[in-house]
Amino acid sequence: MAGRRLRIEPTLLRRINERRLIEAIQKHGPQSRATLRRLAGMTAPTVSKAVDSLITRGLLEELDPIRPAVGRPGKLVRMVHRSAVVLGVLIDVDTCTVVVAGLDGRIDETRTCRFATPVTYAGLIDAIERRCREALDGVAGAPQGVGVVVNALVNERTGEILCCVNLPILDQRNPANDLEDRLGIRGRLIKGTTALCLSERSHGEARGHDDIAVLDITTGLGLGVISGGVIITGHSGMAGEIGHITVAPDGVRCGCGNRGCLETLATDAALVRMIGSRLGRKVTLDQARIALTEDPERFAPDVGVVSEHVAIAIAAVVNLFNPTTLFIHSTLLTDDADRFAACIERVRQRALTGSLADCTIVRSRTPKEQAAISAIIHEITHGGTAAVR
Ligand SMILES: [Zn+2]
Repeated sequence: MAGRRLRIEPTLLRRINERRLIEAIQKHGPQSRATLRRLAGMTAPTVSKAVDSLITRGLLEELDPIRPAVGRPGKLVRMVHRSAVVLGVLIDVDTCTVVVAGLDGRIDETRTCRFATPVTYAGLIDAIERRCREALDGVAGAPQGVGVVVNALVNERTGEILCCVNLPILDQRNPANDLEDRLGIRGRLIKGTTALCLSERSHGEARGHDDIAVLDITTGLGLGVISGGVIITGHSGMAGEIGHITVAPDGVRCGCGNRGCLETLATDAALVRMIGSRLGRKVTLDQARIALTEDPERFAPDVGVVSEHVAIAIAAVVNLFNPTTLFIHSTLLTDDADRFAACIERVRQRALTGSLADCTIVRSRTPKEQAAISAIIHEITHGGTAAVR
């Protein structure tokens, strides 16, 4: 046993040191080895060994130095931008998006591609594979992996989408595995809110924070949580389904089969449904947004109902997880400053004062395709673990 432990420990230590360096670079941007020593709290030989190993593994690269006013110029170390790339795929109800980025998370906008979501699963995988190949055509760097984001219930133990209410062609499928086989690179399937959490932490406003949450209130009501530097997954990756808590036992039928789930009252989709019912016809999100702008008085009761229930959801997350930052991913509720402020005011009436005092509630500005990129970078740098540091 002792001999075995001796063999494992140096590997573990090396990995921990490498992650700490990656963390420091993601948080602070390109740094010299000397600065990395200070930021990561490591000795010069340890930093040197870890940087060299990460350069050999193709994760870091050294840039020519910027000459300082005094002293010897030091080379800057950063996440690889050009010599290695990753793909991000967002599969949504109407539209799919394929993006290419360096390991630093920066998306090459000229290669971004959007297309209508095909109606069959075979058609979907064919289309994504083709667009991925087109997006990579002429890229200087070697493709390292593909992150696939879905707004669905994902069983991470079996690696399957259990249920995608809005896009049933994904049920019992794993598009990341299928793309892995077709493209010959590593694939990572992840639900949207978890990917958004990773993205806010590694490339967004919550860089380096260990206790954050994301509430996605667009179509369904999804929750992603990083607590104590670990992604909250539950046994099979299905934790965080706050949307299916019953709040109105005789309410509207939910996609899960029950009635009156929180997500039937606390989402952009719920507000679109209510506006449509007041107008007596089905409306799209854009039509609902225009209706809200043109006649706010008429739809004030609907906004009030949704805002009240979003506040209940936010307060539940604040009370349960005590995050330092809670990101709200929404269109209708957050694109109007007054509407968002009114909702946050309702949160004050619902959340525990002490927990709310710890927490900043902000609008998430991260697109989900960026989240797909963060997911695959995390897979590459952290090997699929739930730890983020
Ligand atoms: Zn439900």
